Amino acid sequence: MWRRVQAHPKAWDMIVVGGGATGVGVAIDAASRGYDVLLLEQSDFGKGTSSRSTKLAHGGVRYLEQGNIGLVMEALKERGLLLQNAPHLVHDLAFVVPNYDWWEAPFYGLGLKLYQLLAGKYGFGASRILSREETLEHLPTLKTEGLRGGAVYYDGQFDDARLLIHMVATAFEQGATLLNYVEVTGLTKDPSGFVDGVTTRDVVTGNEFRASAKAVINATGPFTDLLRLQAEPSAVPMIVPSQGIHLVFDSTFLQGDSAIMVPHTSDGRVLFAIPWHGHTLVGTTDTPVAKAALEPVAMEQEIDFILATAGRYLAKAPTRDDVLSVFAGIRPLVRAPGVASTAALARDHVIHIDRSGLVTICGGKWTTYRRMAEDCVDQAATLAQLPEKPCVTHHLNIHGFHGAAKQFGNLAVYGSDAIEIRKLIEDDSRLGEPLHPALPYLKAEVVWAARREMALTVEDVLARRTRALFLNARAALEMAPAVADLMASELGWDESTRTRQLAAFRDVASNYVISSRNSA
Ligand SMILES: Cc1cc2nc3c(=O)[nH]c(=O)nc-3n(C[C@H](O)[C@H](O)[C@H](O)COP(=O)(O)OP(=O)(O)OC[C@H]3O[C@@H](n4cnc5c(N)ncnc54)[C@H](O)[C@@H]3O)c2cc1C
Repeated sequence: MWRRVQAHPKAWDMIVVGGGATGVGVAIDAASRGYDVLLLEQSDFGKGTSSRSTKLAHGGVRYLEQGNIGLVMEALKERGLLLQNAPHLVHDLAFVVPNYDWWEAPFYGLGLKLYQLLAGKYGFGASRILSREETLEHLPTLKTEGLRGGAVYYDGQFDDARLLIHMVATAFEQGATLLNYVEVTGLTKDPSGFVDGVTTRDVVTGNEFRASAKAVINATGPFTDLLRLQAEPSAVPMIVPSQGIHLVFDSTFLQGDSAIMVPHTSDGRVLFAIPWHGHTLVGTTDTPVAKAALEPVAMEQEIDFILATAGRYLAKAPTRDDVLSVFAGIRPLVRAPGVASTAALARDHVIHIDRSGLVTICGGKWTTYRRMAEDCVDQAATLAQLPEKPCVTHHLNIHGFHGAAKQFGNLAVYGSDAIEIRKLIEDDSRLGEPLHPALPYLKAEVVWAARREMALTVEDVLARRTRALFLNARAALEMAPAVADLMASELGWDESTRTRQLAAFRDVASNYVISSRNSA
């Protein structure tokens, strides 16, 4: 990637700032149209919000309730395209809304039927009302007291960081150049005040360089306004950051293959309990925060809220001691005048062009990244007076595309790359050894991540190339020394680099561990 940057003699067609779902989506769209694109991410790909979502490819049942039919239909279409283009990573999942009041079954049954109909040819499965017995067949560990029945509907589930890494590979295969650990430190302007490039700093070496572009695209998610202020000090903020957290438990809390959807928590939000990689994922909250952070930390009241709400629906109420991991993410919600609660803010995306010509894409959600990218590249190409080229991502396969990836067992999320990872093990059987008894990850995955997936730190491997940190933070901490050894031999680290890497990982991982209240 660096060689590509150094050999690049002229201005790029587009420079994308930010390597989350939005930025990488833009890079795929632009490169696959034939534009010349550079993407820069200050940390690792997906370090921001894009690895911290609920991992649902969904239309958003809640937005239906808010009357935003257009948004729901668009997202349902994108959900269908995601399944079509990345079948190794996206699958359908049954969601059950349990009913404890007589009016809930017909009410939610009708709404969910509408949700199903809006998907049209992109439908995932028929929703229907369930008897009490059918509800418990789907959710054997649901609280039975007062249970009347339920309603089932279908949505998509995926692994967000894994999809993002495969999107980075897709963008690269389409001709884009993408660098992680390169921070954009400023914007350059031509004599008329129009943004014409970026100044950057390589976070690993400290080297600085400039790159020029016909269009600069700000896809920095929760950090959107910081870059806009660089372009225009008087820019009016667009983003209201709102934090959401998830708790992860073992699979005994939610047995079976279905998820629970609670449409109205006491704070007016939706709460999910979802089977994910052999664990139970429960979230999320919606807490306005003053400032976006790259490594946000769950607040005590958020943890208490999720434990209390989950306890109302699960036969075995989870406690702090049951939490294997807690992670927080910041929603980059777009400001709307007169809306008091962040839960009520629309999840539409916005493309904004500042007077300086900086193109900002923000809002939206993971599910709609492809559509957001299409709209953004249309606008940026017009602004930069590039030759018009049609979007081709409707039918563009994501790297690893495989129609029957389940056959690869624990390596299924790698899709066709699983074949290559198995070859690594055939060549060196030690790489087939597991890294921890509590998690399915193999040594070969660390080697693969360092050689082929641009993993540069222990955290990259444990948080995003595998999901160890998100599934079981203590197990991830125990795996870290073995991961550091493998990375040291792949990347040529000396002992002090290895020690520093481990210390940095321990520091980050401490945010994912919950101490019991007495020892807190
Ligand atoms: C709790 C929660 C649950 C969610 N659940 C879902 C869900 O189930 N389904 C769904 O569809 N959506 C969901 N979303 C929404 C979705 O996750 C986000 O809309 C999406 O991930 C935003 O991606 P992004 O690329 O815009 O932002 P980010 O992923 O935050 O990426 C922005 C990137 O820009 C980088 N950056 C910032 N400044 C600079 C700079 N100066 N130089 C270089 N790089 C920079 C950051 O490091 C960061 O990696 C959820 C969001 C949250 C918070």
